[in-house]
Amino acid sequence: MKYIGAHVSASGGVENAPINAAAIGANAFALFTKNQRQWQAKPLDVEKVAAFKANCIKHGFLPEAVLPHDSYLINLGAPEADKLEKSRAAFVDEMERCQMLGLPLLNFHPGSHLKKISEAACLSLIAESINLAHQAVPNVVAVIENTAGQGTNMGWSFEQLASIIEQVEDKARVGVCIDTCHAFAAGYDLRSHTAAEQSFAEFERIVGFNYLRAMHLNDSKTPLGGRVDRHQALGEGEIGLPCFEVIMQDDRFDGIPLILETIKPERWADEIRLLRQFEAAANAPISATLA
Ligand SMILES: [Zn+2]
Ligand SMILES: [Zn+2]
Repeated sequence: MKYIGAHVSASGGVENAPINAAAIGANAFALFTKNQRQWQAKPLDVEKVAAFKANCIKHGFLPEAVLPHDSYLINLGAPEADKLEKSRAAFVDEMERCQMLGLPLLNFHPGSHLKKISEAACLSLIAESINLAHQAVPNVVAVIENTAGQGTNMGWSFEQLASIIEQVEDKARVGVCIDTCHAFAAGYDLRSHTAAEQSFAEFERIVGFNYLRAMHLNDSKTPLGGRVDRHQALGEGEIGLPCFEVIMQDDRFDGIPLILETIKPERWADEIRLLRQFEAAANAPISATLA
């Protein structure tokens, strides 16, 4: 069973996200539980939480098919003590919001060294930040997103993701979200069935599919290894469609949120339908689906 959706708007309140996701035919979705460009947010009130849960039930969204994303301001590997403290406190608040909403996952970008500390030191700070959040909030899984490796962003290589996981104490509450656009921009080729299978085999060898808790399905405007994060609509970028056929036809991607962050929200319903066609063709030869 594949959970497929998009990062939908929660404008007007978190309770609107499941409504927006249902409208595009999704059975999964991602959302921000607060304004992603602000540090502070007022706590979720009990009525909004109840409405969110009711709307999820009404539209058939399971908690494990929902992928909250944290604020872009948070840097869990920040070299300066005051920024790190502020980020860690905000991350705990994000986890508490997930907990209140009854959601088991929290997706976040690992962090940046800002050329002030070594890559290894930054990865250790990120892992320590996750350990502290685990101590503060029970149950919620920290889902590290791979990055495109733009600027000083860490977590673009599978080795860096593995290094963070290795330093996390509670392995049951750490996982990764692989964004196809970011992986491609970081240098993992996904342009053919064979290339995608080889990149996923490398992921299996270095990180392990047991840690895969979510995917972001995006095509890329940036060429292979370009280290710049620019999403594109499926099939209209440098990656192309074969990679998404591979994902939809491989049961290692079952039971986790598969989230579109593509640039044309008006096309999300069509993109979900296309992905469902790839899934339905799983038992047919791939060449037949392209005919
Ligand atoms: Zn992403
Ligand atoms: Zn991105």
